[in-house]
Amino acid sequence: MSLTVVDHPLAQHLLTRLRDVETSPPVFRTLAKRLTIALVLEAVRGLPTVDVEVQTPLEPAPGRLISPDLVAVPILRAGLGMLEAVTELFPEVSVGYVGLERDDRTLQPTSYYEKVPELAGRHVLLLDPMLATGGSAAGASARLKERRPAEIRFVCVVAAPQGLAKMEREHPDVPVFAAALDRDLDGRGYILPGLGDFGDRLFGTGPDSGLPPLIRNSR
Ligand code: URA
Repeated sequence: MSLTVVDHPLAQHLLTRLRDVETSPPVFRTLAKRLTIALVLEAVRGLPTVDVEVQTPLEPAPGRLISPDLVAVPILRAGLGMLEAVTELFPEVSVGYVGLERDDRTLQPTSYYEKVPELAGRHVLLLDPMLATGGSAAGASARLKERRPAEIRFVCVVAAPQGLAKMEREHPDVPVFAAALDRDLDGRGYILPGLGDFGDRLFGTGPDSGLPPLIRNSR
């Protein structure tokens, strides 16, 4: 498995603002989308292209188009924060959804929702912002592989060593693209230093959700 850390200064700027606890959900959503654009630019490097010729106002010019077999699959729910970046960059992309939760008895990720287009021979961008224990990423990769895609590329915002190790063990053929490789996980499985609960920050469902900072700080 390969890890690509996108260390472009703009990506690091956006990540730093995402990490900041003072960043509100509306700003968080915008930053997440912009950072995903930077990550996806790297993640699509080397995808198959089709040689074409277009007519400029002056003369014919050779060109290359990304082949139209791309599929984006966000893992619910936090992966939704990365989807719009992909659909804006690739308006023709097909989109599937995977929802996974941990079975309390077996501790294995089980699927509670799966709506995925034909994947055979296609190139999949699997989207989930926080590669923490790796349970969801590995579980989703296993389910998607049953549909025989040409390949899966996993795109996240922050990766933890534990999640990377799991992907390395179970899916060495799935490259990982991230804006940072963080230090560790805490006892609840949150990435350290991380950025907290991505889904809560994206959708405003955290403990102080809905309260503007002036009110929150006066409580
Ligand atoms: N999911 C999150 O949203 N944040 C983490 O730190 C780990 C998993």
